[in-house]
Amino acid sequence: MTRRTDIAALRDDFPLLTGGGNLVYLDSAATTQKPNAVLDAIRNYYVRDNANVHRAAHALADRATTAFENARRAVQAFVNAQHAHEIIWTRGTTESINLVAQSYGATTLRAGDEILISVLEHHSNIVPWQLVAAKTGATLRAIDIDDRGDLDLDDFHRQLSARTKIVAIGHVSNALGTINPIKEIVEAAHAAGAIVVVDGAQAAAHLPIDVRDLDCDFYALSGHKMFGPTGIGVLYGKEALLDAMPPWQAGGEMIETVTLEKTTFNRLPYKFEAGTPNIADAIGLGAAIEYLHGIDGAALRAYEANVVAMARARLGQMEGVRIIGNARVSTAVVSFAIDGAHPHDVGTLLDQQSVAVRAGHHCAMPLMQRLGIPGTVRASFCLYNSAADVERLVAGIDKVRQLL
Ligand code: PMP
Repeated sequence: MTRRTDIAALRDDFPLLTGGGNLVYLDSAATTQKPNAVLDAIRNYYVRDNANVHRAAHALADRATTAFENARRAVQAFVNAQHAHEIIWTRGTTESINLVAQSYGATTLRAGDEILISVLEHHSNIVPWQLVAAKTGATLRAIDIDDRGDLDLDDFHRQLSARTKIVAIGHVSNALGTINPIKEIVEAAHAAGAIVVVDGAQAAAHLPIDVRDLDCDFYALSGHKMFGPTGIGVLYGKEALLDAMPPWQAGGEMIETVTLEKTTFNRLPYKFEAGTPNIADAIGLGAAIEYLHGIDGAALRAYEANVVAMARARLGQMEGVRIIGNARVSTAVVSFAIDGAHPHDVGTLLDQQSVAVRAGHHCAMPLMQRLGIPGTVRASFCLYNSAADVERLVAGIDKVRQLL
């Protein structure tokens, strides 16, 4: 298969971006726009194949089930999992992490155990652990960062001990773009006897993911941050761990047999998929993966790195603009502050120039506290952004500085 190398042409696949107007969309870390391939897959499913999966004895249900399970296999290949049944459908990263916290965490943690996260984490990788810590008597600790916004690995190794049972860490920071050294973290955590949960929400659109190479125990991602639909996400878990975990939600689909006295549970992955699943959006996510698969990965990463480097360089030269986070390895996020301006005001004024960024704490309030700032303005890039978008951002910031 020949993969597409003309990355600049990909923008034409996104109707929201090409449908007229002059929007510069720099908020892909919040959610990406969707290519026609994904929109078509969802529509085609509803027009041609819509039926409930796994149960009915008719051809339509067979087609729906096949498409749904093919999407699971697409995710399996995307993250390089060993088995398709290690892929659990969820609503997204948040639900995936809650599943691990409530099923694995609540049944294995004891008083005195420790859960180790980092100050870089999104609230979705903090609050579920606070809840399970309160329930079990475990303690939540956080790895610090250095001045660049990289994880302080010395602090990680200092805090990691035989008490550590779970290390929950983002692959990529949504606020600073920092890429964390997951392999190194997994290796050390396993040596200490802890399992590792990776929040991959910000990695999926930008990095190759290989759960077997990382050797992580769980990996969570969201469809909507990787060109797929909202409302669908994935939890990858190692078979042996998932097998040993109790179900966390109960109902249809997750059962094998039910009497009024007792229920036996279905095999993986269905044990964790109570109720009618989000069939259409799972198929949509499968289409997003197929779309990404059709793009040359090296060309994509080089193109994106170039656009982001340009943004960092141009903003770095602007008087009164301070880039926040300068990690040694990072992805497509550029967080910044403008002297004397509140991030929300900057966001509003950029929006008036049709430049869509995000402003605020980015669901990472502990990180903002650590950095001693109320929030940042965040421009986040992906494959449909270009040098022209960077220029529009720069012009927009110039105007903001004149206005404020
Ligand atoms: N983790 C990170 C790093 C994120 O950026 C996000 C989304 N902003 C989440 C978790 C939560 O993802 P979702 O809202 O799709 O569950």
